[in-house]
Formats: sequence, C-alpha cells, structure tokens
Amino acid sequence: MEEDYVFKIVVIGDSAVGKTQLLGRFTRDEFFLDSKSTIGIEFQTRTVDIARRRVKAQIWDTAGQERYRAVTSAYYRGALGAMLVYDVTRRHTFEHAARWVDELRAHADKSIVVMLIGNKADLAAAGRAVPADEAAAFAEEQGLFFSEASALSGENVERAFLRLLEEIHANVS
Ligand code: GDP
Repeated sequence: MEEDYVFKIVVIGDSAVGKTQLLGRFTRDEFFLDSKSTIGIEFQTRTVDIARRRVKAQIWDTAGQERYRAVTSAYYRGALGAMLVYDVTRRHTFEHAARWVDELRAHADKSIVVMLIGNKADLAAAGRAVPADEAAAFAEEQGLFFSEASALSGENVERAFLRLLEEIHANVS
C-alpha cells in the first residue's frame, strides 16, 4: 500500500554514540555488533501508522562521516526530524550536543523536530557520566524532546522514534 507521507529524519551526534545501532534497531529491530557493516547505505526506511496515516520514515545515517566533519547541507536538506544522539557514559558527547544543535540551526529547516537521545542507557547503572535531569534541562532550554534509550536492549528506541514521527505529523497535518 502507498504511504501518505514520507518523513526524512537525520541521525546526528558524535562518533560511536550508537547512531547506526539505533537506526538498525528501529528499522529492523536488530543489534549488529559489527556496526559498520552498514557503511555505504545512505538511509533505511520503515513504514508505520501514525494517526491512521501510513508514514514512511526515511532515516539517514552519517555512515561515519561525522568523524571528518563532512556532514554536509545535503544531509540535512528536506529533513523534518532529527535524532541528536549522545552516549550517557561519555560526557563530552553530551557537551558536543550544543554544537550539533548549532549545526542544525545553520543547515536544517527552522521547523525541524529534534529529539535528544541519551543512548547506552543499559550502561547507566555502572558508568553514567550525564545525569538524566541535566540532559532534560538542556533539551527543554533548546526546545528539543528528550529520552534516554538503549540500542542494545531496545529500551525506549521504538517509543522515541514514534514520538518524533508523531510530532512531525502534528506539524505537517
Ligand atoms: P555511531 O558511530 O554513532 O554510528 O555508533 P555505532 O552505532 O557504530 O556504535 C558504536 C559502538 O557502541 C559499537 O561498538 C556498538 O556496539 C556500541 N553501542 C551502540 N549502542 C549501544 C547501546 O545502546 N548500549 C551499548 N552497551 N553499546 C552500544
């Protein structure tokens, strides 16, 4: 069946925060240990029902380009949503989130819906470096949605992507 909408979503954030794994978890419900097997794939899709509409989420991965600061404006063009990912066990990846927000403000559409994701929540009990309430406060100040998640366990991944898609849908409908 044809979809009613195609929503482009970009996944951004520092290297090794789990962007590729989150995308894989949502689109295929899988966790690959050999995570860079997806290099070369520009985006993956999954079609879901949102408010009785067929919505195709077209989710773009940087495929490692963020290492070379080569994420270009073409990557952001037409994006209606962004998942901005940091690693709850590595504080600098959270501190860089402000830079990624600047990058979005510079290159993406003004109305882009952004979800801040604190990934690797499965490691939080032993190695948390970013308090959840600090991240929630940053998100609120910047006008972002926020959730912690784990691509490894799958916790909150589906919920976060669906929330983002619902918010985009609310904007366009
Ligand atoms: P990317 O560079 O941001 O795309 O990060 P990857 O998706 O390649 O993941 C980087 C590393 O973190 C890999 O070794 C993954 O197996 C690991 N990883 C990703 N997500 C999680 C998670 O939720 N929990 C744990 N424990 N490890 C994860």
